[in-house]
Amino acid sequence: MGIKKIFNFAITRDFLKKVGGDYAPELVKICENRGKPITDEEIGKKLPLKITEIRTILNRLHFRGIAAYQKTRNTNTGWYSYTWEISAGRVAELILDEQAQEITKLEKRSEFEEGHAIFNCKRKCSDFPFEVAAEYQFRCPECGETMNPADAKKRTKNLKQHVGALKDEVALLKKYKERYI
Ligand SMILES: [Zn+2]
Repeated sequence: MGIKKIFNFAITRDFLKKVGGDYAPELVKICENRGKPITDEEIGKKLPLKITEIRTILNRLHFRGIAAYQKTRNTNTGWYSYTWEISAGRVAELILDEQAQEITKLEKRSEFEEGHAIFNCKRKCSDFPFEVAAEYQFRCPECGETMNPADAKKRTKNLKQHVGALKDEVALLKKYKERYI
């Protein structure tokens, strides 16, 4: 079995999509599998995108420090070409940072919900604590339907499960980072 690559983590794919667009995870996979610097034209052969679209993704990733380029001059043609590399370490670093904040936020919300009744409509447009729902006279401000107390036990359970899964994946990524990056 080979070493798991950074793009194999589900949180990595979500994160890359968010910062680089729908094709960013696939682009990172192509670069990682290549194992050495790659030109945007070469990436273009493997993705159903125009070269300008590939450059847009690369620039977005470059902005976050995820992609780095090197400019080289072809001695025969005199043309410049750019070769790109992905920093798996930077990806891991950004995700670990972001997920630590996300976990704290979810844990705070979980704590809050344990002490407060949450109200929503049957379409689940938005969640409101009792005080806010009462201000709206228990009518959803978005769709106008009646708002009722949500199933607190189920919500807390789901939230805790979500946080648990997130923590597991973060722990795996941390271990991976320490060992391979
Ligand atoms: Zn509603």
